[in-house]
Amino acid sequence: MKDYDITIIGAGLTGLTAARKLQSAGENVLIVDKGRSVGGRLATRRVAEGKADHGAQFFTVRTSELQQEVEQWLKNGWIKHWFGVDYPRYTAIDGMNGLAKHLADGLYVRTHTTVEKWREDDGGFTITAEDSSTWRSKKIIITAPVPQAGALLQKSGLGTEALERITFQPTCVGIFHFEKPTTLPASGHIDNQLPAGVERIVDHFKKGISKDVVVSVYMTADWSTEHYGDSDVLERMKERTGGYLSFDETVSEQLKRWRYAQAAATHSRSYEAVTDTVFAAGDAFLRPNDPSGRTRFESAFISGIDVAGAVMS
Ligand SMILES: Cc1cc2nc3c(=O)[nH]c(=O)nc-3n(C[C@H](O)[C@H](O)[C@H](O)COP(=O)(O)OP(=O)(O)OC[C@H]3O[C@@H](n4cnc5c(N)ncnc54)[C@H](O)[C@@H]3O)c2cc1C
Repeated sequence: MKDYDITIIGAGLTGLTAARKLQSAGENVLIVDKGRSVGGRLATRRVAEGKADHGAQFFTVRTSELQQEVEQWLKNGWIKHWFGVDYPRYTAIDGMNGLAKHLADGLYVRTHTTVEKWREDDGGFTITAEDSSTWRSKKIIITAPVPQAGALLQKSGLGTEALERITFQPTCVGIFHFEKPTTLPASGHIDNQLPAGVERIVDHFKKGISKDVVVSVYMTADWSTEHYGDSDVLERMKERTGGYLSFDETVSEQLKRWRYAQAAATHSRSYEAVTDTVFAAGDAFLRPNDPSGRTRFESAFISGIDVAGAVMS
């Protein structure tokens, strides 16, 4: 049976950041994800000849740790400044999932692998995936969204009291492919004075990542909670945003439902040591002095940095 120093569950930004730091310190790290690809909520979908981000659209930078990385990512040609002067918004050149793929380069990642539970034995853990594969690991970092992490910790016989306050909300995202250019602003982004229930509209052709005109429409957490299971979510979105987009010129439409998009209540530490050898981390784990108080790209990045430091100490 294969044996690792550290298994990281989840190849989103938190897991990838932690893995990069641990691997560069010489640790033998396995990172597993149930998805088809790395990235988690850094998600980009191909649509005909184009593409659309349908998770995070951009990120802002408040910490020196992320600022340092951003300078390197800009040099590497992985990201660009998208809009905003006082608070620059950065986005990935090739879609946000492309950035995750760059970050995963050189890491040992297993996708299509859903961790089911683990059992403690002989100074380590035997971890079992849903496909019945097993491996051993001395330590575990779980970075799945907290409701999923909590369920996995419970299955593995660990208490989750510290995480119970953290709750997540959904987001519904419509992805629309249009025949003709839109009349959205030159940046392709609009998140101001939109109709009730609509959070953001993004034209990926104008954003500069798509050959075709592909637009993502994001609904608010409250609207998404109310309509999550409805069969006519796309129709309702179109009714709300008809003043911005010409839906009689669509080529295709798709709906992405994120059950766990953002935390409504966050944690006041950037990771949680569940035991000496099992750690929980993710975007809902914020440093006590976090200036924004919200789950976001940067909170995931910082949680990954901090949990890696804790695992090595
Ligand atoms: C619709 C939407 C819009 C957003 N917009 C922005 C934005 O514009 N700016 C911004 O800064 N942030 C935004 N965010 C938030 C940002 O995307 C997240 O904060 C960040 O990507 C979270 O990274 P993470 O690694 O903590 O979690 P995730 O990306 O969720 O990664 C967790 C991973 O764990 C995996 N996993 C779960 N359970 C298991 C299991 N049992 N076994 C194996 N793998 C498992 C999942 O497949 C997933 O890949 C947005 C998020 C969403 C959903």
